[in-house]
Amino acid sequence: MNNKKQSLMQNLVSLTKRRGFIFPGSEIYEGIGGIYDLGPLGVELVSNLKKLWWKNIVRERENVVGLDSAILMNSEVWKTSGHVAGFTDPLVECKNCHSRFREDHLPDSRNCPTCGKKDWTDSRKFNLMFKTHIGPVETEGTETFLRPETAQGIFVNFANVVDTMRVKLPFGIAQIGKGFRNEITTGNFLFRVREFEMMELEYFTYPEKAEKDFEYWQKERMDWHLSLGLKKDNLRFREHGANERAHYAARSVDIEYNWPFMGWGELEGVANRTDFDLKAHSESSGKDLSYFDEESKKRITPYVIEPSVGLGRLMLAILFESYSEEKERVFLKLSSKIAPYKVAVFPLLANKPELVKLAKSVYLDVKEEFSAVFDDRGNIGKRYYSQDEIGTPYCVTVDFDSLKDNSVTVRDRDSMKQDRVKIKELKEILKKKL
Ligand code: ATP
Repeated sequence: MNNKKQSLMQNLVSLTKRRGFIFPGSEIYEGIGGIYDLGPLGVELVSNLKKLWWKNIVRERENVVGLDSAILMNSEVWKTSGHVAGFTDPLVECKNCHSRFREDHLPDSRNCPTCGKKDWTDSRKFNLMFKTHIGPVETEGTETFLRPETAQGIFVNFANVVDTMRVKLPFGIAQIGKGFRNEITTGNFLFRVREFEMMELEYFTYPEKAEKDFEYWQKERMDWHLSLGLKKDNLRFREHGANERAHYAARSVDIEYNWPFMGWGELEGVANRTDFDLKAHSESSGKDLSYFDEESKKRITPYVIEPSVGLGRLMLAILFESYSEEKERVFLKLSSKIAPYKVAVFPLLANKPELVKLAKSVYLDVKEEFSAVFDDRGNIGKRYYSQDEIGTPYCVTVDFDSLKDNSVTVRDRDSMKQDRVKIKELKEILKKKL
């Protein structure tokens, strides 16, 4: 990483910690590898992303429903899905310094990233699933796993959804939830972690329409990322070669982002999972997971198109894209749909009760409509700086004139332009802007 890119990463890590977006997991015990906590502003930002995804994937479509399945599942699920045998990465160990790496992530030179030597053990398959036990007895029979993807919860509920929701092919089941992967090496902040939230859609379709639907979802997902403000130049598709596809996939295309710390890398994956999962679970459970097609009067096992994106990676891409520096300030140029707070309200001076009183009433009024924050610390310049740094699109200031003319100043984060508006029109004006 060159110096500029390295300092961008450092600045972002430090800003997100300092301003309550992201904290290292278990920090007071010196952390835990590849685990992060969302702070108060991080949870707002991520919740906005989840709402936007849900709106786009579920609410705005007639044929997609939601689901929230359990993280822990019967271990048969993971045997049948192929994850016990196949959800592995190739692990090698440096014989000199005993550092462990994913073989496919070694540099082209194959020198050890820790000590520089080139003396590796044979590669072995390392399963990424975290094991746990159900109940008080720890035997092989009680063993299960933390889910590495939410998709299996959707497949095992396929018949439940078909029976209860009167869905007709093609239709989708969407889910947002935690996934866990015991990655061999973590790093690059939120890019590769061991616990992360994912947003997954399993879109069930006719086998002969699968390829067309695959193309459709590829485009839909790319358009969605663009709608969040990610730049076209920083996004591209990359088709997987036959040897890198997951065990269940007939075709996979990544939507890649041009990460400042490593160049192009996966942001979202779109896969054609065929009828692999439904067929495997049908056979293994003995329950019929086929679908009766009214038109052809035949039972078919649908194919599945799956767009799947991690919220941490998405948040990281958005933070990189929005991080801006000008002479006097650092600001996050976040879309107002994503910013944790939409509006901040200040009294010009904190020690003037009449200003504080009016500012509080403006704040309470605005807060009914938008996520808002009140701030009366320090001077006005510092407050602007502080709100810019967390990406608040508008700051509203109550000053001495406000007491006479019932107007306030509205300042725009990006242009820093200030407008005077009537308090009674404020909410309507903000509504138009936000
Ligand atoms: P990679 O090749 O980077 O390991 P993958 O191909 O295993 O990723 P998928 O199985 O397609 O990833 O997972 C779907 C999405 O979940 C990814 O596009 C990514 O956004 C996110 N994701 C996967 N693994 C991680 C991780 N370890 N940390 C953070 N996000 C992840």
